[in-house]
Amino acid sequence: MKTLGVLGGMSWESTQHLYSLINRGVAARLGGLHSAQLVLHSVDFAPIAAMQSAGDWAKAAAVLGAAGAGLKRAGAEALLIATNTMHLVATEVERAAGLPVLHIVDATAEALRAAGMRRAGLLATRFTMEQGFYRDRMRGRFGIEVVTPDEAGRAEVHRLIYEELCRGRFEPASRERLRGQVAALAERGAQAVILGCTELGLLLPAGSEAALPLFDSTDLQARAAVDWMLG
Ligand code: GLU
Repeated sequence: MKTLGVLGGMSWESTQHLYSLINRGVAARLGGLHSAQLVLHSVDFAPIAAMQSAGDWAKAAAVLGAAGAGLKRAGAEALLIATNTMHLVATEVERAAGLPVLHIVDATAEALRAAGMRRAGLLATRFTMEQGFYRDRMRGRFGIEVVTPDEAGRAEVHRLIYEELCRGRFEPASRERLRGQVAALAERGAQAVILGCTELGLLLPAGSEAALPLFDSTDLQARAAVDWMLG
């Protein structure tokens, strides 16, 4: 088994779920007492979130790059960035760490493509929905068009992520509002919806009743990680 390095803690609510999914995936494939061989660097999310809202992506990249270099010294052979948003600096992290990143967009796009989806709705942080790094890779490498909610919808999903989910609050009323966002994306012509924030699947898991099929980036990232570790 290859050793995976995980940059986590963004937030720890989703990292603990990812950790469990990767271990379950390895156990399912190898059986017995097998579990995932990985090293985890879990950051304090508050300063990272402050850098995001200040637009200081260079500083965030430096923090994660240094953490990635540490994971390499600890034996990691590739990195998983356990958040969609911080893939904004994936190239800088790869360079600083000297390790390849198993990209969350690629894992998600492969699953969409396998299901025949060409136009996917995206629910995520404002950074992921608005900054282009996600949309451009989806379109450029996989030919998948990304549709996002309107301004009010983007504000609502962004607020939900930072004010509730990253703080461990999972409210039934918010789950219903998220279902409403899925329905709105169906009206905008999406064939499926990407839960493009690693906490969203904790509130509305893939396979839940919703207007469109849900593709959970955490599940798909975990699956890609297990394939790489055992591949
Ligand atoms: N975990 C979230 C994501 O997948 C949001 C937290 C963050 O900004 O890193 O984008």
